[in-house]
Amino acid sequence: MALIDTHAHICDERYSDDLDGILLRAREAGLTRLIIAAATMEESKEAIRTATEKTTDDLPLWCMAGVHPHDADGFTDGDYDQLKNWLSDRKKNRIVALGEIGLDYFYDLSQRETQILVFRRQLELAFEADVPIVLHTRDATKDTLMILEEFQRNRMLRSVPGVCHCFSGSEETAEKLLQMGFYLGFDGPITFKNSKRAPFVISMTPPDRLLTETDSPYLTPVPYRGKRNEPSYVGLVLDRTAEIKGMDREEMAAAVMDNACRLFGI
Ligand SMILES: [Zn+2]
Ligand SMILES: [Zn+2]
Repeated sequence: MALIDTHAHICDERYSDDLDGILLRAREAGLTRLIIAAATMEESKEAIRTATEKTTDDLPLWCMAGVHPHDADGFTDGDYDQLKNWLSDRKKNRIVALGEIGLDYFYDLSQRETQILVFRRQLELAFEADVPIVLHTRDATKDTLMILEEFQRNRMLRSVPGVCHCFSGSEETAEKLLQMGFYLGFDGPITFKNSKRAPFVISMTPPDRLLTETDSPYLTPVPYRGKRNEPSYVGLVLDRTAEIKGMDREEMAAAVMDNACRLFGI
């Protein structure tokens, strides 16, 4: 059974002395593909470097590049040009998506107006470069949907726009995103006992639109909750997803792998 982690921040400094160990344990856990997540320009640069240097035949690595709403305040024209430049040679750079981009009104680490501006600029860039986005949205559903719907109306959104990663919204939001063509990504929290809404959303999401991810080093699934997360735990998220869907583990893993390959063109 082949597994994929579609969202892991393996360039995080918490792994700096253990990167080879992380990748070894991922292989042992059955991972055959991995997408490195990025949230800042620095992390994007590291993600490209790691994906390029550490990719192997049995565990090929790809990455995303983009700026998270947390860092929107620091986004410059130079960053925009750099992203564009990386995307212009995305095969070589092993970039399969622009992300994480979006809005985060939970932490509000950047001004909301700036978050919106930076989200819009990166949405334009993704459309021009014809790459899927990895959407991060938290406590900002209304504005996120408004912007995406506007882009869709103006035909500036791909028919398959990307994945809403770590989906934690309502059933209605899920329905709107699915209708727009988005995939929904789920993480460790679906294994928590008190998790009710996400499992419900999974139960209504078609199996050909589900993705599993770890968001390592965050969001560690049970029974490792409280410890540092890593890609080798993605099977726990997959198991819970299969359980909710009433599917076999193998069947679910194959569906998720197909979905990831289709969305990211890997
Ligand atoms: Zn995120
Ligand atoms: Zn992330």
